[in-house]
Amino acid sequence: MRVVVIGAGILGSSVAYHLAMNGIEVEIIDEVHQGKATLAGAGIVSPWATKVTDPEWYKLYGAGARYYAELVEGLTRRGETDLGYGRVGALVVAEDRNELNAAEQRIQSRIVDAPEAGDVRRVSAKEAKQLFPPLRDDLDGIYIPGGARVDGRLLAAAMTRAAVAMGATLRHDHVSLDLQDGRVRCIDSNGSLIEADEVVVTAGAWASQILRPLGLEHPVRPQRGQIVHLRLAGVETRSWPVLLPMTSHYMLAFDDSRVVIGATREDNTGFDYRVTASGQAEVLNAGLAIAPGLATGTIIETRIGFRPAGDSFKPILGRVAGLDGLIIGNGLGASGLSIGPYAGRLLSQICMGEKPEIDTAPYAPASA
Ligand code: FAD
Repeated sequence: MRVVVIGAGILGSSVAYHLAMNGIEVEIIDEVHQGKATLAGAGIVSPWATKVTDPEWYKLYGAGARYYAELVEGLTRRGETDLGYGRVGALVVAEDRNELNAAEQRIQSRIVDAPEAGDVRRVSAKEAKQLFPPLRDDLDGIYIPGGARVDGRLLAAAMTRAAVAMGATLRHDHVSLDLQDGRVRCIDSNGSLIEADEVVVTAGAWASQILRPLGLEHPVRPQRGQIVHLRLAGVETRSWPVLLPMTSHYMLAFDDSRVVIGATREDNTGFDYRVTASGQAEVLNAGLAIAPGLATGTIIETRIGFRPAGDSFKPILGRVAGLDGLIIGNGLGASGLSIGPYAGRLLSQICMGEKPEIDTAPYAPASA
């Protein structure tokens, strides 16, 4: 069987990795558009505190976080160790004590069957500040030891490299799709046919564009995220937990004295790849209100990514009924770095004709 995977973000690279591991011939094709979400994503992997209640979405969110241990172990065995992955813990804080109590209840109910979250405990404002030093000094918190962060750029590149090491091929090109006798065909930018038994569309926020010529009205649009990276020169940040203030903003730290403050969630911007004054102000004001100790940090970059946002939180995963040879993986929205690796494994199982290890019927794309 020959499979073409269109898009090598977190999802496509995972599909390719899992297919290659099973001996399937895979060609990965990636245009690397400006605003590729995986290159901009913050990298928080800590599902347990979320306020979102959609059960089908949460099922994948939780499973995605759980899968990380196995994924990292498998990649490490293949020599891929540079993933920016750290199980640094997550620190949930809130100004309002009632809100923190509600968060604690939510977390406790969710970790009943999630031992990977670790021994969750309440921490005083003093301890919270010890864990994340730039934090305000009046915020109690909840510490979740199993919270993690990952560098999506490094992880996707590692999965792609591992797939190539197992025989997959990678090319950078813009491809399009058409139909012949009810079967989907993939065409490269020179107009040549790319042979494939199965085409897997993991094209992020661009998926609707590529699916339109097939007559599919795909409900995924770009949601712009602007995310600010600071450097705290000389400060050891690598073990700082992910900071979750229970708003749409958050902070996390990486190894190179880097602290990331995220992020805007802007609908209706199309693919407008710009750092805007209001975006930058929104993110910095939100970050500094919670962690004033970041005020002297150096702004080293602002990344822009287009989240693939669907009509609901639920990802879209599976075969398109009514068309031969087309599988879609899309709509990962704001949680794709958590869900993507596991969803890629599920898609590889669908592609190989196996029963996916969890029922993917609730995530099925609309039929043709
Ligand atoms: P993408 O990474 O966008 O990849 C799609 C690829 O398809 C691109 O490379 C594109 O060039 C290619 N492509 C498209 N069309 C074609 C074509 N016709 N031919 C060839 N190639 C094509 N998630 C979390 O879990 N935790 C977080 O903390 C988090 N933070 C985020 C912060 C920001 C600011 C943003 C923007 C996102 C964040 N996310 C987070 C979400 C996550 O980054 C995305 O859901 C995920 O990266 C989407 O991956 P993807 O593979 O579907 O798409």
